[in-house]
Amino acid sequence: MPSIDLHCHSLYSDGSQTPQQLVDQAVAAGVTVLALTDHDSTQGLAEAHSAAVAAGIRLINGVEISATWNNQLIHIIGLNIDPETPILKEGLVEQAQARAKRGRLIADKLEYLGVKDCWQGVLALAGNDENRVGRAHFAQYLVNVGRVRQLQQAFDRYLGNGKPASVPMPWTDMATAIAWIKTAGGVAVLAHPARYGLSQTKLRALLVDFQQTGGMAMEVSTANEKSNIINNLAVLSRRFNLYASQGSDYHGINMPWLKIGKFAELPAECLPVWDLFR
Ligand code: AMP
Ligand code: MN
Ligand code: MN
Ligand code: MN
Repeated sequence: MPSIDLHCHSLYSDGSQTPQQLVDQAVAAGVTVLALTDHDSTQGLAEAHSAAVAAGIRLINGVEISATWNNQLIHIIGLNIDPETPILKEGLVEQAQARAKRGRLIADKLEYLGVKDCWQGVLALAGNDENRVGRAHFAQYLVNVGRVRQLQQAFDRYLGNGKPASVPMPWTDMATAIAWIKTAGGVAVLAHPARYGLSQTKLRALLVDFQQTGGMAMEVSTANEKSNIINNLAVLSRRFNLYASQGSDYHGINMPWLKIGKFAELPAECLPVWDLFR
């Protein structure tokens, strides 16, 4: 099992575990280098760092920034960032404010569709911090009140793009997100490139643009991905001069199909992104 996991979430975004719990689980799974990459938030990093020092593992400061590229939502992971960098901090504050605003709009739509006490219920799931509210919290609430059976169903029926409770987001653009990460001394990594539903042609266009805009790496091995997809991503990473990253995207108990440290090893031809911060 890989001992380097560069993608996971705590309850500072849509994960269910504290940073301390994540570190404990990482240790139990044999992970020795862990990056905490909450959605648009660096709030859990200090706690994760203390926990990692105490446990004797390495914590990489990370963040997963929501961004747009040609009207397409993408996720860009910043690894090895300095979270105190003003331009990054200010950018993430704006993203959080947009998140809170969107949360209320999604709740209004779901209330209209007959989902009771939606905003209060979702807020409670997000630690009563409106800035953390994500679609995964809405999905969990819809499961909890019996509207749907599984998180996936909540996205398919209500929260996915173009569905009745979807709200378009003014996320920052790709170039700005990459600039925040670079200014913060970090490495910009395109998250889960196979999950955007792009054709091979569009995916190549994204990778070219991402690399030319200062992106340094792409995720090649992500959890539950078929080996032919991982192999294709490995080939693309070499073709477009991108280092390769790997991670579980662990979210805790809400998404039991993801486990910390559980995903395939990088194919041999990849250039591991951690070579950049050894
Ligand atoms: P947000 O950043 O609030 O728009 O939420 C995006 C998050 O929702 C992702 O990071 C996943 O955790 C979750 N998510 C998106 N699509 C799905 C899906 N089909 N099933 C389960 N979770 C999903
Ligand atoms: Mn998530
Ligand atoms: Mn993501
Ligand atoms: Mn993620």
